Amino acid sequence: MSAPAPAHLGLQPRGRPQLLSVVLPAYNEAANLAWLLPELVKRLSPEADQLELLVVDDGSRDDTVLLMHGLINQGLPLRLLRLSRNFGKESALTAGLDTAEGDVVISMDSDGQHPIDTVLEMLALWREGHHVVYGVQTGRRASQGWARRSYTRIFYWLMQKGSRFEMPADAGDFRLLDRSVVLALRQLPERARYMKGLFAWVGFSARPIAFVPEARAHGETHFRFARLLSLAITGITAFSKVPLRLVSAVGIVVSLLSVFFGLWIVFEKLFLGNSPSGFATLAASITFLAGVQLLCLGIIAEYLGRVFDEVKRRPLYVTQDLTPPLRRKSSAAT
Ligand code: UDP
Ligand code: MG
Repeated sequence: MSAPAPAHLGLQPRGRPQLLSVVLPAYNEAANLAWLLPELVKRLSPEADQLELLVVDDGSRDDTVLLMHGLINQGLPLRLLRLSRNFGKESALTAGLDTAEGDVVISMDSDGQHPIDTVLEMLALWREGHHVVYGVQTGRRASQGWARRSYTRIFYWLMQKGSRFEMPADAGDFRLLDRSVVLALRQLPERARYMKGLFAWVGFSARPIAFVPEARAHGETHFRFARLLSLAITGITAFSKVPLRLVSAVGIVVSLLSVFFGLWIVFEKLFLGNSPSGFATLAASITFLAGVQLLCLGIIAEYLGRVFDEVKRRPLYVTQDLTPPLRRKSSAAT
């Protein structure tokens, strides 16, 4: 499905990767991992000299660990990074990217919603010379309600306003990253991990690739609306100052309106002889302004909260244990 890259992009074609890492953040996904991991080994082994499937156990309460040790004993090229509790997908993914050793790193969900066929297409694009290949879900927008689509649109508008890098809408955490991109990501020190934004921020030549997510085989999604909203707020406060500017703009507009209103009252009194009605106008304007002020304070507080999180400089995740690196097969090339 991928067209050959135009020569003018100056892409350097590459050969087969020596070590291909797949990072799989997992929270209570034992039932899915049980079939996904053997399948990945089967389909991806021919693509690289050595495969490394790195499962980041994000404090699962099912038997993910038991399953993993079973599969490792069977000789599958797996590594298990156990976090000390549930830190959330963004932190688990960061932990995985900090640990993966591959020349190419693929991040995908462990519930099997990200098709392996797309991974193979991503690898083909990497060999053409792209540094990043990101999956774009198709058929998602149509299936969402009107309200959800509008929030999404406002969100991307806020995120993109005035920024120098492009954050593709509908792209997710399903991607391929060249090692150089992974190294760049490791240098980003912020606690607020809005991965989609960070991926875009580091730059490099990126290629979208369309995919249709599979249905979840077991379990259900961990991302409900409230959680998505909180992720969106993290994204906005980490990447955009537009809300802060809006606060100033609202201040200017309200001040101007009140000046005009004041002038109108004087005019009414002097030329039309009407005394303005007192209580209702007062009550309405006081409550309105109190609302506006609280809203603006809330926006500022949201940013202040981020500053608070950043200055604490707590680590993003705590590792409980990590299985040793896989021994690399000595390849003929080296
Ligand atoms: N996940 C995680 N930690 C969490 C929640 C989710 O590592 O706290 C993982 C989960 O196991 C899965 C991926 O993140 O591999 C995506 O989660 P999910 O399928 O629930 O999200 P959706 O596909 O619905 O966006
Ligand atoms: Mg999923």
